[in-house]
Amino acid sequence: MKNIILIAAPAAGKGTLSEMLVEKCNYVHISTGDLLRDASREKTELGEKIANMLQNGDLVTDEIVFELLEKRLENKDILNGYILDGFPRTLEQAKKYDELSKKLHIDLGVVIVLDSEYETLKKRIVGRMLCPKCGSVYNTLTGVNTPKVSGICDKCGESLYKRSDDNEESFKNRYDTYLEKTKPLIDYYKEKGNLYFVNSEDKEEMLKSTLEILND
Ligand code: AMP
Repeated sequence: MKNIILIAAPAAGKGTLSEMLVEKCNYVHISTGDLLRDASREKTELGEKIANMLQNGDLVTDEIVFELLEKRLENKDILNGYILDGFPRTLEQAKKYDELSKKLHIDLGVVIVLDSEYETLKKRIVGRMLCPKCGSVYNTLTGVNTPKVSGICDKCGESLYKRSDDNEESFKNRYDTYLEKTKPLIDYYKEKGNLYFVNSEDKEEMLKSTLEILND
């Protein structure tokens, strides 16, 4: 299966699309945000440093991101196809990733840009609730995926939590960072000729369009 790089503003649907592709096509999902959140829970100086950067919505340094990513890509489970969610975030990272993929003999695959309106994104972030046990994602503002019982996971009954960076101020910061640092990647991959756009307002439509690209 083709490897996938997802480029998207915060809450544009990277996590949701990844979850559906894992279920439908057995993709391996690699989220640098998840790798960093795991690392931030370690009670070390590095863990605390990462936790602070995440809390403010700032980008974590390339040195840290690449160390975690390279370790993850050395795992053989990626050979059937993987989704990169949240990476690359900058032009610099994209260029370094080209080198890393050459070194590890990994194919770049396709790059998919997820498109949603600003107001949709804000509601998705500010209302987002997550299940720590099964990873299900809910929302209390958009009217889509509202938990049946407030604060409780429909699937496994666990108490839901909010990510510490899912607030309005951090959203604005993350969105501005996306415009400034990540959006330029669109031109970078357009030149390489492996770029596709997918509307991500509706999740079923988003999946359908993505499968069309993958089966092309
Ligand atoms: P995400 O889960 O993709 O929304 O990422 C959450 C946070 O993790 C971001 O706001 C950044 O602080 C950090 N992060 C995730 N991926 C990267 C990356 N590729 N480079 C730098 N920081 C990242």
